[in-house]
This record gives sequence, C-alpha cells and structure tokens, in this order.
Amino acid sequence: MIVINSPEITAQDEFTVISSLIEIDGKEERLWYKFPQKFQQFLVTENLDAFLVGILVLGLKTGNNIKLESPVSARLYYTLNHYLIPALCLANPKFQKINIFAEVLNESDLNFGKLAGTGLSCGVDSFATYYDHLTEKGSYRIQFFTFLNAGSHGDLGGENPRMVYQKKLLQIKKFGKEENLEVISIDTNLSEILNINFQSTHTLRNFSCILNLQKLFKNYYYASPNRFDEFSLNSIDSGDYDLLNVSMLSTESINFFSSAANLTRTERTNLITNYSQTYKYLDVCTNSSIQNNWGNCSECEKCLRTELTLELLGKLHLYDKVFNIKKYYKNKNRFIGKVLATKEENVFNKDLWNLLKEKNQIHFIHYIECISFKFKSHKKEFKKFIKKKSKRC
Ligand SMILES: [Zn+2]
Repeated sequence: MIVINSPEITAQDEFTVISSLIEIDGKEERLWYKFPQKFQQFLVTENLDAFLVGILVLGLKTGNNIKLESPVSARLYYTLNHYLIPALCLANPKFQKINIFAEVLNESDLNFGKLAGTGLSCGVDSFATYYDHLTEKGSYRIQFFTFLNAGSHGDLGGENPRMVYQKKLLQIKKFGKEENLEVISIDTNLSEILNINFQSTHTLRNFSCILNLQKLFKNYYYASPNRFDEFSLNSIDSGDYDLLNVSMLSTESINFFSSAANLTRTERTNLITNYSQTYKYLDVCTNSSIQNNWGNCSECEKCLRTELTLELLGKLHLYDKVFNIKKYYKNKNRFIGKVLATKEENVFNKDLWNLLKEKNQIHFIHYIECISFKFKSHKKEFKKFIKKKSKRC
C-alpha cells in the first residue's frame, strides 16, 4: 500500500515548497514541488491531485494500491479508476491494475486565475504550441510559460540534471522576457522517488507539477510529439497517447490540451520559421555531452532532423546562430540514408521522407547510405545475437 498524506506548505528563501509525506510499504519519503514564492496563493492544498498523479506510476509498477489522506478531485478519481489506470496497464504490460482509495471527493472548481499556460523548452513543439496560440483570447490566452525539472533533464533526477535545468532556465527566461511573459520554474524530487524511465512517464510527471497550479491555470497546453492520427497506446512514449491522457487528467479546475496535434513535425517547423525570435533561441538538442551548455550539437538525430527540415523548407540559413551548418553538411547524406532506412518504423522520418520526395531531393548517394545503414544495423544485431548465444553456452 502507498499512503499519500495531506500537503504541507513551507517557505524556502524566495521559494515556496508544497510537499507530502508518502508512505511506500511502510517506508517514508517526502515528495516536494518548489515554486517561486509569489505563486503560493495559487497552490492547491485542498486536494492531493498533483501528488496522486505523480506517484501513480510507482503504484502501477509495484502493484501497490494508493490511499489518500486528503480529498481528491472527484473527476480525477473517476477517470483514473475507470479509464486511465486500465489504459496504462494496456500500454505497459508490466504494470499491475491497482485501486485508489479516497474518503473525500471534491467536486469544487478551485480555479480563480482564469488564464492559460504552456511549458517552454524552446524546442520545435513548444514553440509551435506558443505561436499557434498567439491570437487566443480570455482564459485561452497564454500568460505564463512553465519550465519543469521533472525528468526531462535526466530520468532519475539528482544534482547533474538539476544543474542542466538551472542553466537552461536562464535562457528560457531571456526568451520569456522578450515576449513579456513570465516563466514559472518548478523543481521537484519526483524523479528521485520514481526511479523510472522518463519517456514512458513524462505526461504524468509534468502534469503532476502543473496540477499544483490548478488555481492559476484554467487551461494548459501540453505539446504533443505527433499529429493526432499517429495515436498509439502501444508505445514507449506516453506522448503517443496524450489525446487520452489530457482528457483523463483534467479536473473540475483545469483543462489539459494536447497542443499542436493538428500539425506534423514538418508543419510545426515551418510554422515557427515565421517568427524571428526562434532564429536565436531554437534548442532541439538532447545530446548529453553538451547539455551543460545552451546550444545544439548540430549532429545528433534531433539536430540533423531539424536542420534537414529547415534546409528543405529553404530556411536553414536563418538558423546559423543556433546550428553549426558545416557539421550538418558533413553528416547530411548519411542522415538521409538513415531516414530512408527507417521511414516505416519512425514517424518523424516518414514525415521527412515525404518532404524529401516532394522537394525531389533523394539522390543515388542516399540509397547507397541507406544500404550501408541497414548493413551496419544488421551487423550490430548479429553481434548482439552471437553474444547472447555464447553467454547461454
Ligand atoms: Zn544535437
């Protein structure tokens, strides 16, 4: 059994920390989320929604039921028990179906901020979300960015990811300042407690941070990785079924939306090229060797994908401040060969392949690179197979 106790608020320098004592099989851990002090009035202490959503995967992974010692959103309680828990068990066969026990269900709308927010990483998806909402009004207008440390800088948390988060935050804040929008930084020790892969759990982790701010955000846009016709429950990326997640994790107080899901990656890239701020702030790289500094390595898969798309759209020259174009050209043909080889199993490469065909940019050299990529992949697989076999003998 996992027990989640009532939330507590404490002050820590210029920050406010909301935390809860979590009992996991008799062992105690304190789960905390840290916000700039000025947002204290918007933190939800009435419900345990944020803590429940954060800890949920731990319950599913260990087969522990979850007991709540404070109220929970009645809608969330209903959607988790009836839909999301069974769906997550289908998505991950290792998960075990569990029950949530709560004595008090809260049907109140706690929101009084009546505004919208979105996460900002300065990647293609978050920029596409922001620029796609520029003309929204009222409670749908983005008035705050958020920047979270819930696993995106290192699955298991700890000091190094926290350092990367702090460094990136400085650059994110610079962009926010240029747009006259404040960035709400949210740090948490959720990753340290979960000890679980980030890609398969990012939606729950990030939403748990935002559920603390249900009094502020009536609407929150969470950038989807794919267009909605790529929906898949059988995926290692929880974003591939965000259309389900956003509906099942919304409450009486906050609505989540899977934003930019109407656009392919190519269309999103094209959209953001209309805004000159992206020419100096675009940051798509996740290469860990340069993560301590702001910037793109220009030669990892994410960088090459973005550079190739920009070149095919005739916009790469605009991004010479954020990419090393020489490095791109050195790797370009090899990367197109990989795109051709993996277009069936990789939705982003399929999208790029369509653009390459449309622009008539597939040449003989790329087929040679494609064969070379396939040969190397088979060789790797074969070596792995032999290693496995020899271990058994
Ligand atoms: Zn990179």
